[in-house]
Amino acid sequence: MTRLRRFDGPLTRMLARAPGGFGLGQVPKDLVPERVVASVCGFCSTGCCLDIHIKGERAMNLTPTAGYPVNDGAACPKGWESLAPLGAPDRLTSPLIRNRHGELEPASWEQAIARMTEGFKAIAARHGPESVAFLSTGQIVTEEMALLGALAKFGMGMLHGDGNTRQCMATSVAAHKRAFGFDAPPYTYDDFEYSDTIVLIGSNLAIAHPILWERVSRNRDAALVVIDPRCTETASVADLHLQIRPKTDLVLLAGVARELIARGWVDWRFVEAHTAGFPELRQHVEAFRVERVVDETGVDRQQFDQFVDLFAPGRSVSLWWTMGVNQGHDAVATANGIINLALLTGNIGRPGTGANSITGQCNAMGSRLFSNTTNLFGGRDFADPKDRAEVATLLDIDVDRIPDRPSYAYDQIIEGIHRGTIRGLWIIATNSAHSWINNSELRSLLDRLELLVVQDLFGTTETVAHADVVLAAAGWGEKEGTFINSERRIGVVRRVAAPPVDAKSDFEIFRLVAQAWGCADMFREWTSPEAVFGILQRLSEGQPCDFSGIDGYAQLERVGGIQWPWPAERRGQDVPRVGRRLFGDGQFFTPDGRARFVVSDPVPPPERPDDRYPLVLLTGRGSAADWHTRTRTSKSATLRALTCREPVVDVHPNDARCRGIDDGDQVRVVSRRGVMRATAHLTPNVGEGQVFVSMHHAETNRLTFPAFDPVSRQPAYKYAAVEVERLRPGAG
Ligand code: SF4
Repeated sequence: MTRLRRFDGPLTRMLARAPGGFGLGQVPKDLVPERVVASVCGFCSTGCCLDIHIKGERAMNLTPTAGYPVNDGAACPKGWESLAPLGAPDRLTSPLIRNRHGELEPASWEQAIARMTEGFKAIAARHGPESVAFLSTGQIVTEEMALLGALAKFGMGMLHGDGNTRQCMATSVAAHKRAFGFDAPPYTYDDFEYSDTIVLIGSNLAIAHPILWERVSRNRDAALVVIDPRCTETASVADLHLQIRPKTDLVLLAGVARELIARGWVDWRFVEAHTAGFPELRQHVEAFRVERVVDETGVDRQQFDQFVDLFAPGRSVSLWWTMGVNQGHDAVATANGIINLALLTGNIGRPGTGANSITGQCNAMGSRLFSNTTNLFGGRDFADPKDRAEVATLLDIDVDRIPDRPSYAYDQIIEGIHRGTIRGLWIIATNSAHSWINNSELRSLLDRLELLVVQDLFGTTETVAHADVVLAAAGWGEKEGTFINSERRIGVVRRVAAPPVDAKSDFEIFRLVAQAWGCADMFREWTSPEAVFGILQRLSEGQPCDFSGIDGYAQLERVGGIQWPWPAERRGQDVPRVGRRLFGDGQFFTPDGRARFVVSDPVPPPERPDDRYPLVLLTGRGSAADWHTRTRTSKSATLRALTCREPVVDVHPNDARCRGIDDGDQVRVVSRRGVMRATAHLTPNVGEGQVFVSMHHAETNRLTFPAFDPVSRQPAYKYAAVEVERLRPGAG
């Protein structure tokens, strides 16, 4: 195989490193900080640490923390610009209430909280506890989301609450549970550097997780395989790019499993001792002969063989996936298809191996374990009486306060608004009116609610525009707590700046709501984020995510974060500098300790291209300077300069030619659900018959098709049927 260059372009240079930490000698005197406070970054799940430079009460600047095990002095553009959103002119400085003229006007906290709690109580009294729901987030610290989950479910009596992690990680959660018995990402970032073969599936790692990409780049001996319908920044420098047709990953994975079995490249010792379901896997993949794989995926035979060769016995293979897998209509089956390959070849629990789902948001992992939305605290099950009794004892609450069934998922909450069963909604730190799939429909549904409360930093988001009550929240850097990153590392977030005027931390807001609701007594122990951290340690004890042995925030700061598990018996032990992975002993979290092969037949996308909408719309990250709905990144002039502000649609030159579209033309991208205007960018990086638009424009989700994985209920953002039409000059 020809070895291609590793990526060494402008992006790598943007990952500017602070050599040896903050060099005071090079800094003008008036910028020399009085103190430096380390805090984990609040954008993505990588979990980099940043040293914030403080003078007086002002956070002046930052440098990425040298020596921190995750990023060792490097940060991507978003990390460097973390402080910019705090001083934005559209920060909310007080709560707002919509008046009888339909305008949002400033209100006191007493007025806003009273309007919220009295409104929700009245709705629940008329329509039952199912009629009020909440949408949590992966963007706040674990202690806050736990307080929210306990308050909403146990204190306010809500049955339904989900989080925006449904949009990014629900698929991985479901696949992990099915295969491993618990939502447990098995890896450490070090595995990028120990692999002989690195396989990235549906992941544009170079721009979505730039610090992890740096780890890949350090491993110059590994063969890098990228499976992606687009020739992304990452795929363009892979040793092998399998440019499959969209949503044919599962066929490819099953075909590879079949071929590995046919070649005898199965780790029999591992499979026999540590797995269950191999006979079913073997029977299932028999239908995926190479001819079928080539025909359905578009990958040629030679590439297929090259890919299988890279699983040769003795090689350490790691398989990594992100949203290209998770955001699909058949996503959990695909994620389990990835895990199957790792189990089949014994590539798990050893350095450089693993079936490794990379998380999206900074605290999606915290949300998965402790938001108390669709899972009961600590990865437990609301439907399990034993789990409910355990949590009730640990929290010293009446067990009857714990709902005995799982919550609706996000899409079911939205559907509940449509049916009229959900009439009050509390949205915290997420911009649903932008980010939800088929968002035109969602916006009209938000307007049907009797009461919509939105808690956010900014008064200008698409979701705030629909709110009846707006609660002014403090942001990252203005409060404290912990995040859990992709490799299960718990790190501390510190307060380095005061919130503007009358904005409050989410923690304070939840305590105010508890007071007004009349359930504050239930939270008498929940006095501060660090006190809640202690409660969460108790809730984790005996669970796979046990971190009861951590000696508070001080130890986390001293040792550069700690990966779970870190149970009580490790209290006082030295924390290893090297990353720790799970399953090294071949023991999984299933009842019999065996991992499961999980198989199912591929299902075609529910909306297919046709004569009217002949192209497949793909969506994804725009650049390393972008984050989701841009509510924060748009506040930085530096980040704005690094991104495309207006929508651009990537079109294959052949598709453009037959539509009379030239590079730079204004076009309409049209689906059955809506239209967006964009500038055409002609590029062979998208396949023929496909177009790509970044996810950061609210208009993108006018086009997306509201399909959901049947197991994880994660939205399928990555496939919709569209047409692209050239706009006549002057046309709107
Ligand atoms: S890679 Fe993620 S965690 Fe690291 S600096 Fe960038 S946004 Fe922050």
